[in-house]
Amino acid sequence: MTENIKRRWLVGLMVVSMLPLPFFVKMPTWSISSSVWLYVSAVAGYIGLVMLLWMYILGTKTVMGLYFRDLAPVLSIHKWLGKYGTLLIFLHPLAVAFSYGGEIVDYIIKPNLAMSFERSVTWGRFALYALGIVWLTSALVRGRIAFRPWKYIHYLAYLALPLALVHVPSIGSSYRALDAPRIYFISVLFLLVLFSILRLRHLFRLGRAKYSVTKHTEISPNVWLIALKPTGRILTPRRGQYVYLQWSLLGEEHPFSVLQTDSETGELTIAYKTRGLWTRKLTALRDGDELFLDGSYGEFMSDISLGNTKPTVFIAAGIGITPFVEQLLAASKSEQWLFYANQRPESATFHRQFRQRLGDRYVSIFSRVDTPASFCDERGHMRGDVIAKYLTSPADYHFYICGSEGFMHTAETSLQQLGIPSTQIHTEAFGW
Ligand SMILES: Cc1cc2nc3c(=O)[nH]c(=O)nc-3n(C[C@H](O)[C@H](O)[C@H](O)COP(=O)(O)OP(=O)(O)OC[C@H]3O[C@@H](n4cnc5c(N)ncnc54)[C@H](O)[C@@H]3O)c2cc1C
Repeated sequence: MTENIKRRWLVGLMVVSMLPLPFFVKMPTWSISSSVWLYVSAVAGYIGLVMLLWMYILGTKTVMGLYFRDLAPVLSIHKWLGKYGTLLIFLHPLAVAFSYGGEIVDYIIKPNLAMSFERSVTWGRFALYALGIVWLTSALVRGRIAFRPWKYIHYLAYLALPLALVHVPSIGSSYRALDAPRIYFISVLFLLVLFSILRLRHLFRLGRAKYSVTKHTEISPNVWLIALKPTGRILTPRRGQYVYLQWSLLGEEHPFSVLQTDSETGELTIAYKTRGLWTRKLTALRDGDELFLDGSYGEFMSDISLGNTKPTVFIAAGIGITPFVEQLLAASKSEQWLFYANQRPESATFHRQFRQRLGDRYVSIFSRVDTPASFCDERGHMRGDVIAKYLTSPADYHFYICGSEGFMHTAETSLQQLGIPSTQIHTEAFGW
C-alpha cells in the first residue's frame, strides 16, 4: 500500500471515530437553549477527547513509525488537527458556561477545588490551561519561539488528555445516563494506555539499532562527517531516507539524512551542520563511541530508488545537499542536474566531486563571492531564470528540493512560475 493510500485510511479512520459522537450523547430539548448548549458542550467535549487521543497517536514517532515510512505528512495532519481541531475543544467549556448561564471568564478560568463536583470541573480547567498554552505557542507564535523551548512547552499536551479524561466520569451527564458514551470513554482510555505502552517500547531498545563511530571529521566550516558501523541490527536506508540519532535511550532524538550506505558492512555516513545544543554536543563524539539509530524513514526520493529513470534536477542549499549526495556521485542511467546554492565555495561540500561527476550539469550558485560569474558558476540566490538558462525544457524534469524553509519556498515558487506541475516537484524539509 502506498503512503498516500495509508494516509487516506488514517484520515478516514479519524473521521469515522468522531462521526457517531453527536448521536451518542444525550439529545437536547431543542426548544430550551440551556439544553442545546449542554448538548453542544457534550459533543464538543467527546470529539475533543478523541481528537486529543489522535493528536497523541499522530505525534508519536514510535507508534506512527510502525505503519508509516514517511513521518512528515503524518505530522502535518497532527499539526492541522492541533491548529483547527483544538478550536472545537475550546467550544466545550464555552458551551458549558452558556448552558449554566455562568460568568464565562469566572467559570472557565477560576480553579475551584472546594467540592467534589467543582474539583472534577477543575481538572478540565487545568486541561484547558495546558491546551491553551500549547495552542498559543504552536498555532499562533511558533515561528517566534526557538525549537527547544517550544518543544518543552508542547509536552504540556501530555497533561491535557489524562486531565480531560479524569474530569468526565463524575460530571458528564451523558456519561452517567447512557451506555454509549461510557463505552466510548473506556475505549479512549484503553487506547491511551495501549499507545503509551507502545511508546515505551524504546526504553527496551525495541526499534533501535546500536551503531559505533568509526570516523568523525569536520569537512568544511561547521559541517561534520560521521561514519557509523552497526554493532548489531543493520539499518538499510534507501537513497534520500533519514534516520534518528540518539545518545541514550531517554535522550533527544534528531533526524539526519543518510549520506551514504555501505551495503556490505552496513556502515552509514551522515553529514551534519552544527546548529544548536545537540549538534554542537555531537561534535565531541570520538571513534568507538556508541549511538542509537532509529529508521529508516522518508519517501522523498522513493521514485528514484524504485528505478525511475526520468531526467532529474536536484536543487539544494547548504547542508540540504545530504539526501542527494549518494545518488549524484553514483553512476546513473538518467540525466541528472544539480543546482547547489551556498554563500561561499568553502561551504559547498563535495563541490569538487560534483564537478568531476556531473561536469556542466552541476551549477554552483554563490551569494557571497565577488569574482564574476561564469558558465555553471552563478552569483546571487537561487532563481527561476538560473534554471531556465540551463534547462531548455524544464517541464521534462522531476525536481527534488532540499534546504532551508525560505530557500525551498523560493525554489518551489520559481519552478511553479516556469510551469512545472506540482507532481514533478518533490521537497524535503529539514525541520518540523
Ligand atoms: C528529515 C530531516 C532530515 C535532516 N537531515 C539533516 C542532515 O542530513 N544534516 C543536517 O545537518 N541536518 C539535518 N536535519 C536537521 C537536523 O535534524 C537539525 O539540524 C538538528 O536536529 C538540530 O538540532 P540542534 O539541537 O543542534 O539545533 P536546534 O537549534 O535545537 O534546532 C535547529 C532546528 O532543527 C530542527 N530540529 C531540531 N531538533 C529536531 C528534532 N528532534 N526533530 C526534527 N527537527 C528538529 C528544528 O527545525 C529547529 O528549529 C534534518 C532534519 C529533518 C527533519
